[in-house]
Amino acid sequence: MEILDGKKVSNQIKEEITVEVAQMKERGEKVPHLAAVLVGNDGASLTYVGSKVRSCKKIGFDSTLIHLPEETTEEELLEQVHNLNNDPDIDGYIVQLPLPNHIDEEKVLMAVDPDKDVDGFHPTNFGKMALDMETFISATPFGIMELLKRYKVETEGKHTVVIGRSHIVGRPISILMSQKGNPGNSTVTLAHSRTKNLKELTLQADIVISALGVPKFLKEDMVKEGVTIIDVGITRVPDDSKEKGYYITGDVDYEAVSKKASYITPVPGGVGPMTIAMLLKNTLLARERHNTKKS
Ligand code: NAD
Repeated sequence: MEILDGKKVSNQIKEEITVEVAQMKERGEKVPHLAAVLVGNDGASLTYVGSKVRSCKKIGFDSTLIHLPEETTEEELLEQVHNLNNDPDIDGYIVQLPLPNHIDEEKVLMAVDPDKDVDGFHPTNFGKMALDMETFISATPFGIMELLKRYKVETEGKHTVVIGRSHIVGRPISILMSQKGNPGNSTVTLAHSRTKNLKELTLQADIVISALGVPKFLKEDMVKEGVTIIDVGITRVPDDSKEKGYYITGDVDYEAVSKKASYITPVPGGVGPMTIAMLLKNTLLARERHNTKKS
């Protein structure tokens, strides 16, 4: 069994980006600038955004955090989005989800300029991704593909079962795994909450990508010997014995399932760090595309 070490690979990617940014600086070019908009004080969102901004600083990007109060109106947020769209210094930005209930998430995501949508959530970018066109692939599926690529995990002709059909993970990764390419060329089954006999499907899978958010959902008796496991789930389980009051766990019963697996991602330290690295990669791509457009 080999661990797909997302932490290690994400550090490699960040080092590669750091070198590119240093070269940009040497050439006297503007370095990539990522902005993040956070509305409210959701604990997990604060952690995610904080680590995105810290990562930017480490690799030499400019970064801006726009932290708005919980009671920000939809109109005010849309104005902020409009300002970011029109700010030539910003190469890419993200609006951290979830947004408070009084704000229409879809409306906000639709207002983001697709050329700055480094999260790849805008329908233009999602559509381009589905049509194999150059675009911003959203960071988590992009990170999974990069991890499979760097570990040279064979995906061609394999049966991949994706659990979860969210727009940010399950749906896009199911498309990417079925596309022509390497990784890719996989035969994909997309399972979700209405799927019947999930175990029958996962038992046939060469690769299982689990993105549902239920701790220890995927058990040893649901997978076959030699399976590759990508655990996307991140759940905070309350635990008073921990300093933070919780611990982080994935969707997979790691102890037992890892004994049967050829490859497996740990949680934490698997897909999570890859997500941040690929957001940075998308921001670098945005900068490069903006340069090309100008010249
Ligand atoms: P979501 O919460 O939007 O949706 C969950 C999906 O799971 C749904 O499509 C639903 O149909 C499916 N599902 C629920 N119960 C099921 C069941 N019993 N059997 C089969 N399918 C079932 O999903 P999401 O936003 O993709 O998040 C999923 C998990 O991934 C969460 O734990 C989230 O925190 C995590 N996540 C991690 C990263 C990362 O960077 N590692 C990024 C995004 C999300």
